[in-house]
Amino acid sequence: MTLRLFDTHCHLNMDEFADDRPAVLTRARRAGVQGLVVVGFDLASSRAAVALAESFDGVFAAVGVHPHDAPSLTAAALQELKSLARSPRVVAWGEIGLDYYRDRSPRDEQRRAFQLQIAAAQAEGLPVIVHSRDAAEDTWAVLAETVGAGAVGPSPGIMHCFSYDAGWAERFLSLGFYLSFAGNITFPSAGALRNAARAVPGDRLLSETDAPYLAPVPHRGHRNEPAYVEFVVRQLALARGTDVESQAAQVFENAVAVFRLQKSAMARAGDLG
Ligand SMILES: [Zn+2]
Ligand SMILES: [Zn+2]
Repeated sequence: MTLRLFDTHCHLNMDEFADDRPAVLTRARRAGVQGLVVVGFDLASSRAAVALAESFDGVFAAVGVHPHDAPSLTAAALQELKSLARSPRVVAWGEIGLDYYRDRSPRDEQRRAFQLQIAAAQAEGLPVIVHSRDAAEDTWAVLAETVGAGAVGPSPGIMHCFSYDAGWAERFLSLGFYLSFAGNITFPSAGALRNAARAVPGDRLLSETDAPYLAPVPHRGHRNEPAYVEFVVRQLALARGTDVESQAAQVFENAVAVFRLQKSAMARAGDLG
């Protein structure tokens, strides 16, 4: 039986997919992926994400500036992101956040871009997709102060590629966030991450690839692609002691909920690719 899968976070807008995007989408569809979100990380990749979402059924977009590129978030860039965000195919604002692991931008610049974009997402009525690496404390502080202030609708958003422990999982869950797990949950060393996945209520769990990065076992070390989200869902089922069909069905429903996808949009998503 083919699983019904959703990849909540991939970068088909990157050059790594320039030569074979249609084939990648066909493989995703064959693997059971009925919806995926192409996520922006700067202005150009956000434009590309929207263009892809407008070209392929079952493909949705998120627009935003990654903490690595925080200094590029000028007033003009923010303005263009806001107009891109009004495409009906845009379902979230991201990826935004804090990355103190690579520290490619000054931390005060990262916090500035994060706060500005949370405000923009709230103004546009979109959930945020948060990237947070070695920055749990500051990410929490910014979100508690902004999202916690309650200006967002049913869900403030997603902690993408969740990589913290079960204690942090509880804290982000308490702000209303969904936690999305990526291919690193399949790595043998990821026991703490599997524990965190066990701590998440079933209705707040999501699956993603973050392709082209972080390919799950058995594809580790190669280019990742949305079809491989299946291995993430299988690992989630294993870690949580659920059967894989109902785990897949649940994370799919959760994706539909967090992105507030219309039933009509998902009906068309059966034709992904
Ligand atoms: Zn990220
Ligand atoms: Zn990403």
